[in-house]
Amino acid sequence: MAAQVLVVGSANVDLAVKAERRPQGGETVLGADTEVLPGGKGANTAVAAAKLGADVALVGAVGDDSFGTLLLESLRDSGVRADHVRTVDRPTGVAYITVTPDGENSILVSPGANRALCPEAVAAALPGARVLVASMEVPLSTVEHALVSAKEAGVRTVLNLSPVAEVAEQALSGLDVLLVNQHEAAWLLGAEPVDAMRLLELGPKAAVVTKGASGAVVVTGEGSSEIRAPKVEAVDTTGAGDAFAGAFSTALARGANIVDAATSGVKVATMSVRRRGAQPSYPNAAELE
Ligand code: ATP
Repeated sequence: MAAQVLVVGSANVDLAVKAERRPQGGETVLGADTEVLPGGKGANTAVAAAKLGADVALVGAVGDDSFGTLLLESLRDSGVRADHVRTVDRPTGVAYITVTPDGENSILVSPGANRALCPEAVAAALPGARVLVASMEVPLSTVEHALVSAKEAGVRTVLNLSPVAEVAEQALSGLDVLLVNQHEAAWLLGAEPVDAMRLLELGPKAAVVTKGASGAVVVTGEGSSEIRAPKVEAVDTTGAGDAFAGAFSTALARGANIVDAATSGVKVATMSVRRRGAQPSYPNAAELE
């Protein structure tokens, strides 16, 4: 049986090191012990959905190496179907993260296997899905193909356009939901402050702009709705956008309307910023109650 939520996106191992400062060109700095954590926007989104009890599959790619094994095991342990994660002849994607005492992260991503995620990988996973959610750390051609073929198959489509990039008009027109943060929205519109309504001119039926501690705004042809985030002490916002995408898509697959789905996204993402890490910070269904 097909999964109800289909995530098309990246899987990376995050290698995080705390250091007093980040090295400059030609310099070596000694840091703390390396933390090895599962990450990548696609995997994070899928895990956020699985923790809420969604029937979710990731369409992705890892390498034939120990990091690939680690990612496949962690996806399965979190309840994500990994049968559409291909093992390819390139190294598993890695994000090298330096964390300094001011809390600032600098991240170098080596996409590796994610670059080998081909459009054909999507077709086999598509039949029976209710919602397809795609993000952008995989080849643009694969994302565009996924959106167009999902639309043809009558599957609802969500594009988390992050990291932001130019996307073919064909993929945006008829898209059910464009999901971006404020910076991505400003980049797309070429203007600040962001007028979220104008995102609809790019072709999607609805758009959601997440606004960090301020929550999110939903725009459709019928108007706009603000969703406020509850005030919390934010400890670590890593992967908050992916938590939103996972919860939002789960709610849509369960039949919620877009405003209710975004309300669920804000609730889950806001809970996630109260704890460290990306995937470990995501709440499960019981915690949400
Ligand atoms: P990230 O890059 O950190 O994964 P993002 O930039 O894609 O996140 P944001 O708009 O910063 O997306 O955050 C997504 C959601 O996370 C928000 O809609 C909100 O629900 C929650 N969130 C993020 N930061 C905070 C915060 N400081 N306090 C409360 N909620 C937050």
